[in-house]
Amino acid sequence: MKKFRFKLTALFVLMIGLSVLAAGLLMGKSYKDNHTLALQEHMEKEMRVLIAAAPWPVGLTEDGQTEYLQSQAVRFKELADMRVTYVRADGVVLGDSDHEPETMANHLDREEVREALEHGIGSSERHSSTLDENMLYMAMAVKDGDRVQGVIRLAVGMTDIERSLSKMWVALVLGLLLLFVLAAGVSYRVALGVTRPLERMTGAAKRMADMDYEIRVPDDGKDEVSELARALNALAESLQGQMAVIRRNGMRLQSVLDNMPSGVVMIDPAGNVTLYNSSAEWLLGSSAKERVGRSFTEFKQHYELSQLIRQALDSREPLHEELTVYFPEERLLELNLVPMRMSGEEETGLLIVLQDVTAIRRLERMRSEFVANVSHELKTPVAAVKGFAETLMAGAVNDPETAQSFLKIIHDESERLNRLIGDILELSKIESRRSTQQFSPVDLNAFLERTMEFMKTEAAKKNIELQWEADPELFLEADEDRLGQILLNLLQNGINYTPDGGKVKVRAEYVAGEGADDVDGKIRITVSDTGIGIPKKDLPRIFERFYRVDKARSRSSGGTGLGLSIVKHLVDMHHGTIRVESTVGVGSHFIIELPLLQP
Ligand code: ADP
Repeated sequence: MKKFRFKLTALFVLMIGLSVLAAGLLMGKSYKDNHTLALQEHMEKEMRVLIAAAPWPVGLTEDGQTEYLQSQAVRFKELADMRVTYVRADGVVLGDSDHEPETMANHLDREEVREALEHGIGSSERHSSTLDENMLYMAMAVKDGDRVQGVIRLAVGMTDIERSLSKMWVALVLGLLLLFVLAAGVSYRVALGVTRPLERMTGAAKRMADMDYEIRVPDDGKDEVSELARALNALAESLQGQMAVIRRNGMRLQSVLDNMPSGVVMIDPAGNVTLYNSSAEWLLGSSAKERVGRSFTEFKQHYELSQLIRQALDSREPLHEELTVYFPEERLLELNLVPMRMSGEEETGLLIVLQDVTAIRRLERMRSEFVANVSHELKTPVAAVKGFAETLMAGAVNDPETAQSFLKIIHDESERLNRLIGDILELSKIESRRSTQQFSPVDLNAFLERTMEFMKTEAAKKNIELQWEADPELFLEADEDRLGQILLNLLQNGINYTPDGGKVKVRAEYVAGEGADDVDGKIRITVSDTGIGIPKKDLPRIFERFYRVDKARSRSSGGTGLGLSIVKHLVDMHHGTIRVESTVGVGSHFIIELPLLQP
């Protein structure tokens, strides 16, 4: 831009300089011409006066003529301070104010004399070798009618004119120089006025190229440069808007990718990872930082996955697989590998969507196991009922004693079937969350008293001592029926798995929360017995459906294997926890903790 500014300035200066020079030359020439012309006119008038005042002395002899004309010349010179020369028609000088006429050469060859003889008047400007200066000569023919008698010539030195001309030249050159300096300054300012907005715009365009679209240039003028500035500002604004949209879309896409539960990995045609979202980080165990920009072959912990990627890249066919990965933990992943061509690219990249199906598959397995278990559980009582009924029909009915005992067995088994079906229905109701909970404040003292009353006869049958204690004024928000179901199931187990003469005890107490405002205060209900206890290895599994420590004993006690599973679900429904502490041969404690208030 600087170059342009200097070029523009130089151009202005040159143009101004040339015009000033041309004007100076013209002025000088016209000054000199006017001066010369005025001098010539003046000399012409002088000559006419001279001719009129002293006519050509035709009547005198040659010597007389010379003498007369010489004296005239000298006199005139004194009056007018001009050299006067009288020349006869044949060129002989008869009188001269500055020289002896005899010593002077014939003047017929002088230009002004020749012109005067031919046209009546003549002039010439030349260097006089006699006086060693430039002289202006003016000659006029003196006539008597048509006959030329001689020529009178005046001459003045050009020194004065030349001096004033050279003065004028000095003034002109000085003026020119001054003008030059002025012109240079003005031109520089003008050039600056033109180039500065351009420089600003160039700077703005460079910053826009560096993606800074907030830059604006002043555009409040009416000329073309301001028009350009306005266009540039509009461009920056539009780019800024588009950039914001792109950024917003990018962020939206990024947050979708970051928040989606499926892992998304993109691989470019060269096999490098270009995208690795946070779910992928969680499922495959490496961070996006470690993965993006690197080859998929570096998936060292996932050999099978990299094999699948290679296969999909080579075949360019979509792949759907389920794969067990062992890093960062064992998971079953559902993989969808979709080849995709990015716009403008020839080669095909790969989009991989990963889904953790471990829980789904476990649930499916549990469902099918549950169906198998239910069928198995139903089969035994049904087979018993069928068998005993057939035996009765085959004749046993005739023996009243046998018939009585068989009918009792059939009744017990159908009772068990009824319980089993009841439990299954209850469980499925709770699991499908079809039943609605009705939370209300429960007075635990009254509640425990009522519940223990229910179990009294059952306990008395086995001579088991039932005890309960609760902090006074203990309340909690719960669904009372469900809470009763929890406690009854636990008490039933306690009685079932405690030998005759044992003890089953319930204790309810308040456990203060950790926060100062006590919002997370809890109620702890512990059901303890002095029963057979549960072996350590079975403890983690006793809340599973149909899980029994000792199948024969559970059956004989009338258990369905679903009681604790129902308890666990009901405790979950109350946002509480249940755990068990047990020692074989000593007894068990089932500890439930429920929040004081339901969230
Ligand atoms: P069941 O109907 O067989 O009692 P549960 O789900 O209630 O089924 O209990 C699962 C298993 O846990 C029982 O079969 C039993 O082996 C064990 N169990 C439950 N409660 C006790 C207890 N209080 N003492 C010892 N074992 C228990």
